[in-house]
Amino acid sequence: MRLFCIALLAALPWSSQAASKINVIAATEDLAALAREVGGDAVTVDSIARGYQDPHFVEPKPSFILKLQKADMLLRVGLDLEIGWLPPLITQSRNAKVQRGGPGDMDMSQFCQILEKPTGPVSRAQGDVHPLGNPHYWLDPDNGRRMAKALADKFSAIQPENAAAFAQRYADFDKRLTTAVKGWEAKMAPYKGHKVITYHRSWPNFCDRFGMVVVDYVEPKPGIPPSPQHTLDVENTMKQQGIKLILVEPYFDLKTPNKIAADVGGQVVVLMPSVGGNKETATYFQLFDYDINLLVNAFSKTK
Ligand SMILES: [Zn+2]
Repeated sequence: MRLFCIALLAALPWSSQAASKINVIAATEDLAALAREVGGDAVTVDSIARGYQDPHFVEPKPSFILKLQKADMLLRVGLDLEIGWLPPLITQSRNAKVQRGGPGDMDMSQFCQILEKPTGPVSRAQGDVHPLGNPHYWLDPDNGRRMAKALADKFSAIQPENAAAFAQRYADFDKRLTTAVKGWEAKMAPYKGHKVITYHRSWPNFCDRFGMVVVDYVEPKPGIPPSPQHTLDVENTMKQQGIKLILVEPYFDLKTPNKIAADVGGQVVVLMPSVGGNKETATYFQLFDYDINLLVNAFSKTK
């Protein structure tokens, strides 16, 4: 009987494979979602920041260090997005694999098209939280595609025996994304060139991709709270140019956006900037489905 049990255990597929899965920790749920798309059963994926949190400002917890201690890979957004909270967690994990420049450290920005790159000297002195270019680049599906390809290549380097499976999963993701993008672009086509205001500079990649023009921001600078003078300037711009929509991330106070909307006869739209922000945005695809449906609905009401 005992022999039989051992034989049965040995036949169970997960008993031998569990230990060899690549343990991926992602700084954000967007990067985690892409790793799941490409990694499939060969990886375990967890994330640190939740999709409903402002990724610039995440409260560090001891549990995050535990996650990093066991990680084979750490996926970061980079461009200083996580500078306020991630570096101490990495140091305290004492895991050589995920230290900056370590074999499992992946700054995903290096694979992507980055907008708003600074041309002059870089300084955070003004409180600007985007000193190295815009870090919200995952909101262009083409950047999602680039990251998925980079992940497939990296997973294959770590686990050459699964390279064909990773390549297949990437090819499948690429195909599904191409189809999805066509659908999203078709839905947004009637609103091409429409102007919007956004609270934070989270949406340049998204708006470029889907044909919207961002004219101004509720924040005077990225990371700087609204000021009365700037709010007045935004209202004047909206009135002069007939702008109706103010796009707001779910973690900002709605007081100022609501006031602006009331003053100019506009509309506040709370878009989801990250996977996992709510139940309806559980995957990379659902994130765009959700935001584009909200936008189409809002634009159709402002006609
Ligand atoms: Zn930002």
